[in-house]
Amino acid sequence: MSSIDTILQKDVLDRESILRLIAVRDPEQIELIRSAANRTLLENCGNKVFYRGLVEFSNVCISDCYYCGIRKSNHGVNRYTLSEQDILEAAQWCAEQGYGSLVLQSGERTDRTFTDLVERVVKKIKECTVSPKLPDGLGITLCIGEQEPEVYRRLFAAGAHRYLLRVETTNPQLFRSIHPPQQTLESRVRCLEILKQIGFQVGTGVMIGLPGQTLEHLVDDLLFFRDRDIDMVGMGPYIVHSDTEMKQYKVSVEAQRDEILTRSLLMIALCRLVLKDVNIAATTALQTIKENGRELGLDFGANVIMPQLTPLEVRKDYLLYEDKPCVDENREQCRGCLERRIRSVGREVGFDQWGDSLHFRKKVNGPGRS
Ligand code: SAM
Repeated sequence: MSSIDTILQKDVLDRESILRLIAVRDPEQIELIRSAANRTLLENCGNKVFYRGLVEFSNVCISDCYYCGIRKSNHGVNRYTLSEQDILEAAQWCAEQGYGSLVLQSGERTDRTFTDLVERVVKKIKECTVSPKLPDGLGITLCIGEQEPEVYRRLFAAGAHRYLLRVETTNPQLFRSIHPPQQTLESRVRCLEILKQIGFQVGTGVMIGLPGQTLEHLVDDLLFFRDRDIDMVGMGPYIVHSDTEMKQYKVSVEAQRDEILTRSLLMIALCRLVLKDVNIAATTALQTIKENGRELGLDFGANVIMPQLTPLEVRKDYLLYEDKPCVDENREQCRGCLERRIRSVGREVGFDQWGDSLHFRKKVNGPGRS
C-alpha cells in the first residue's frame, strides 16, 4: 500500500487515493495533507483571499429541507424580506469597503414578485457600484435556490455572474433522507447544468457530518465536483437546529464535533488537491464548531470568505443552524475581525477585485478580468 507521502506526490488522485487521504487521522499525516493543499493553492490561485459580502435578504422559504432552521414548516421563525433600498445600501457599503463582490442569499421562493425583486436589485447594484476601482461594478453571486431556466436567464442578463446551489450530498439515498419527496437530487443537478449552460460561474457543495454519511459518500462528492466541472465550492459542517425534523440527532452530531471538523478540513484540502484552481469558501459554519474554524479552512486550501452584511436587526432571524457566529457583530466589527484572521494565517485580502474562479476563467479563455 502506498504511503501518504507517495500519494501526495501524484498529480492526479484516483478514488482509492482520495479515500486513503480522507481516512487519515494521525496529526503528522494530516499536516502533510494540509501543506500539500496549501502548496497547490499558492501555485494555482496565489496568496489572496477574496471577499463576498453576504446579504441574507430574505428568510421566506417554500422548501422544507429537514435540516434547515428557516424551512417553511418552522413556524417559530419571524419571516422578513429586506427592502430594495436596504439591499442597495448594503451593496454600496460593500463596494466602498473594497470587497469587490457580493452574495445575495435567501430562502427559496419562485413567485414572480420575488424573482422580479432580485432581477431589479441586481440591475441596480450593477449601476450604482461602478467606480474607477470597480469599472464593471460589484461582482454578484446569487444563492436563491432552484428556479426555472427562464428565471436564471433573466438574472444572468441582469448582471449576476455567479450562482451557488449546494447539492448537499450526491448520494441519492442520503439526499432522500434529508429532504421531502418533492425535492430531488436530479432536480438540483439539472439546475447546476442549466446554470452552467447559461454562462454562470457555478458553485456547489455539501454538508459534512450528516447522519448516515460515510467517507465514501464524501469522496463521491469530490469526484462529482470534478466531473461536473464545478467552478466554486462551499462546504461546511452540518449543525443541528432544534426546530427541525432532524433535531433527534443533536446529541450524536455534537458528540462528533472534532471528527466533523477534521472531515470538513480534509474535504477542503482534498478539494484543493483534486480540483486545483477552483474557488473554495471557508464557511461561517466552520467557525461555529471551532472558534478559528475559518482560519483553519484558509490554511487547508480555501481562498474565499463571506463577511456578514445582513442588517443586525434581522440577522437573528436567518438562523439555518444554532450558535451561528457573528449575529451580534456589526459589519464594521466583522470587517476588522476577518482581516486580522486572514493575516494571522499569512494571507492577504484581494481588495477591489471580483476574485473570479480561475478555473472558470481558463475554461472560457476570456480576457483576464479581475
Ligand atoms: N435557499 C437556497 C438554497 O437552498 O440553495 C439558499 C439558502 S440555504 C439556507 C443555504 C445553505 O445553508 C444550504 O445549501 C445548506 O447547505 C446550508 N444549511 C442549511 N441548514 C444547515 C444546517 N443545519 N447546518 C449546516 N448548513 C446548513
